[in-house]
Amino acid sequence: MARRVPRQPLIAALLAAAIALASAALTPEQQGVVSHISADSLRGHLSFIASDLLEGRNTPSRGLDIAAEYIAAQFRRAGLEPVGDHDYFQTAKLPNGEARNVAGLLRGSDPALSQTYVILSAHYDHIGMRSSGEDRIYNGANDDGSGTVSVVEIASALAAAPERSKRSILFLTFYGEEPGLWGSSYYVDHPLEPLSKTIAEINLEQIGRTDATDGRHVNVAFVTGYDYSNVGSILDQAAQPAGVEMKPIKGDYFSRSDNFAFARAGIPAHTLAVAADYSDYHKVSDEWQKIDYANMANVDRGIALGLLQLASDAPPPAWNEHSAAARRYADAAKKQRQ
Ligand SMILES: [Zn+2]
Repeated sequence: MARRVPRQPLIAALLAAAIALASAALTPEQQGVVSHISADSLRGHLSFIASDLLEGRNTPSRGLDIAAEYIAAQFRRAGLEPVGDHDYFQTAKLPNGEARNVAGLLRGSDPALSQTYVILSAHYDHIGMRSSGEDRIYNGANDDGSGTVSVVEIASALAAAPERSKRSILFLTFYGEEPGLWGSSYYVDHPLEPLSKTIAEINLEQIGRTDATDGRHVNVAFVTGYDYSNVGSILDQAAQPAGVEMKPIKGDYFSRSDNFAFARAGIPAHTLAVAADYSDYHKVSDEWQKIDYANMANVDRGIALGLLQLASDAPPPAWNEHSAAARRYADAAKKQRQ
């Protein structure tokens, strides 16, 4: 009788993931992008962005400024084009100080289509510090350090690919989401690339935790306003080779993050989240050690494949004319094209 081999769930899971990746028909470009995204890299970035040094990244604050410099340094390292009003920064004057969006562009390869844009974004601000308590710092690791470092990691992976997508991809991180979508609203009022040529906006929120209050979510991202446009189904199909699903989110989150500023301007724009609600939401205990980095890396692989699809020469996504809830955004899109 053969010796009983003990079950090794981790190895089995890794093997299954490797087989799934290998068997899926990825182009060399896609394969390169997918293999460039790593859990260790995400952990490294997030352990800094969500560190106590940054004091909860309130808008405006010194901690927020340090985070902006870090993100810009990563965009610089990836070789993105600086398209801010100064280097990678788009600076807005607030009544109480110097907040900045951070913007880097990956120029598309097609002479005509490179004049059209897909945006990947996240907000890098959080809610600062509380006045008392043993731990006073709201680190905002999942909200939205996880989205921020995913933007950085996906930008780095796409920039390292030997072949560029046909459309250009603009990577943005916003200040002031927490007090009311300030950074994204400022961008929409002062776009760095024409809004009429921006075909989609994908915003990342809370991508790192798998222990959501409504259960454990692995290899899936939930899309706000899924049936408002065909963006969700495009992403879902494109992400399949990474073993990642894109599903409709439960609950009405469409207007609760930065995608909303773009949707109001008519651009098909959605937020992707893994844990829309989790136990440490807006608590000082939202720390980087609690993130599921392996899952975040895989979800990011799916998102990167989705971005590549949106940035290909396929027809641009559109609002769903049959959705009553999406009508105002479809109307805004018509105005944008006039
Ligand atoms: Zn958030």
